[in-house]
Amino acid sequence: MLDTNLKNQLAQYFDLLKTEVTIGLSAHHDDENCKKVRDFVEEVAALSDKITLVEKELSYSPSFEIKGSFDHGRIVFAGLPLGHELASFALAMLQAGGVAPKIDASDKKRIEGLAPADFETVVSLSCHNCPDVVQALNIMAIVNPKVNHTMIDGGSFQDLAESRDVLAVPAIFKDGDFFEGGKQSLSSLLEKLGSKVDKEEFKDKPLFDALIVGGGPAAATAAIYAARKGIKTGLLAGEFGGQVKETLSIENIPGFKYTEGPDFMDQMQAQVTALDVDIMTGVLADGIHATDKQVEVNLDNGAKLFSKTVIIATGARWRLIGIPGETEFRNKGVAYCTHCDGPLYKGKDVAVIGGGNSGIEAAIDLAGLAKHVTVLEFLPDLKADDALLKKLKTLSNVTVITNAQTTGLYGDGKVERLAYTDRISGKAEEIPISGCFIQVGLVPNTEWLKDSGVELSDRGEILTAGDGSTNVERIFAAGDVSDTLFKQIVIAAGSGATAALGAYNYLMVNE
Ligand SMILES: Cc1cc2nc3c(=O)[nH]c(=O)nc-3n(C[C@H](O)[C@H](O)[C@H](O)COP(=O)(O)OP(=O)(O)OC[C@H]3O[C@@H](n4cnc5c(N)ncnc54)[C@H](O)[C@@H]3O)c2cc1C
Repeated sequence: MLDTNLKNQLAQYFDLLKTEVTIGLSAHHDDENCKKVRDFVEEVAALSDKITLVEKELSYSPSFEIKGSFDHGRIVFAGLPLGHELASFALAMLQAGGVAPKIDASDKKRIEGLAPADFETVVSLSCHNCPDVVQALNIMAIVNPKVNHTMIDGGSFQDLAESRDVLAVPAIFKDGDFFEGGKQSLSSLLEKLGSKVDKEEFKDKPLFDALIVGGGPAAATAAIYAARKGIKTGLLAGEFGGQVKETLSIENIPGFKYTEGPDFMDQMQAQVTALDVDIMTGVLADGIHATDKQVEVNLDNGAKLFSKTVIIATGARWRLIGIPGETEFRNKGVAYCTHCDGPLYKGKDVAVIGGGNSGIEAAIDLAGLAKHVTVLEFLPDLKADDALLKKLKTLSNVTVITNAQTTGLYGDGKVERLAYTDRISGKAEEIPISGCFIQVGLVPNTEWLKDSGVELSDRGEILTAGDGSTNVERIFAAGDVSDTLFKQIVIAAGSGATAALGAYNYLMVNE
């Protein structure tokens, strides 16, 4: 079952076990799945004398429970935790074996306060986003004995996945009902469970020189620049990582021929953490008010922070069109960024939804790479600038369909077909595609700025001057939330540096 290399790796992990771990195996059927899981746990148990294997009756067969020698919630793996889930299994073993999970004190307190819950997560072993969810829910079970979690491999339990209408993984069920899908972090799951960071944790915060609101590349770079100037710096983010965490392959950051979003942002986070920056996550800013002496930032848990300057870097999110398949196939054929993901569709048939400037720019961009590009526009005419339309007409591998209402994206595990309705004839049509770029605009995360006096463009972006300052004294902005012309990682990072230096200059001159 396990090759020598994997066995050696797991044995090294299990050397770290501090206390005994019991694996309770439930594999009663005389079939291949049960045999594989039995072989797996027998091989695992043989790797450490701290691991004991016993037979057990569990809800799923094959499955096994991991039990440490302290009071914790139930942790069960139904099916084989191989592929991307091997790390989840190894971590669960270590945590049950007395190695404390790597979470901060605030998250630990939030988990301890959770009400009893039974979670089940349907995964596929090739899913990149699943381990984060499995590991976060296992940590909850380790920390809070009232929380139970079962990972279910959809490949081994196909009937179950079908009966629960699981069309995309990870699919999280709570107490038997669908709870959440897609990529989730510990912090976002806690948020969705209604657990707020205790406002008491903010009561002794100092007056910051620069408080950065956001956790993407703009915020991280602003924090690096501010902290290296030696000023008192805080960073408040719903979650660290921003949109970059959502992209798997990045090929346009100078110095990195190829990197992956989560790795890249983990490195940025490590760099910020190593500096003198007070990083506060798991809570959102929901209001801001500047006086002539300081800026007050209100948080969604009722706390307040104060700073001499604030840099807003709350980014943006893609505007969704709300059709079936859009969320389920994200990163599996549904893409938003042609600069980023276009090369993955070289020689393939793709569609672009949206005939405005961004849609037509995307189509022109993709025409140089893809075999064929179909542009679908809801209205009778394309709305892009003339120069772009002229260029579009010169391209032989682009088809434009106007009056097209896209109704869904379909396929087996990835996008294979786009369905639309011809709004004139009312006829339902389908086109075969490998990828679909949805270009109906970005929505800047500026809703929380209402009543702040910060001036926004008609697209809702924060208007900034050359030094990142806004119309409100002491408030600066950077990255996708601001009116920077292009929305890219290096551009966000550059504007973060600009805003931090702008804020520093402001303090030099005015304080
Ligand atoms: C799928 C995808 C692929 C991409 N690929 C590439 C690529 O390959 N190359 C490239 O250069 N660009 C790429 N981009 C674009 C790039 O990710 C963005 O331009 C960049 O992340 C913008 O950085 P930012 O810091 O301004 O904002 P974001 O990355 O959007 O970060 C915003 C941060 O603010 C936090 N936040 C939001 N609201 C609040 C609030 N009220 N209070 C506190 N915190 C808040 C969020 O939690 C988040 O941490 C891609 C984007 C996507 C979505």
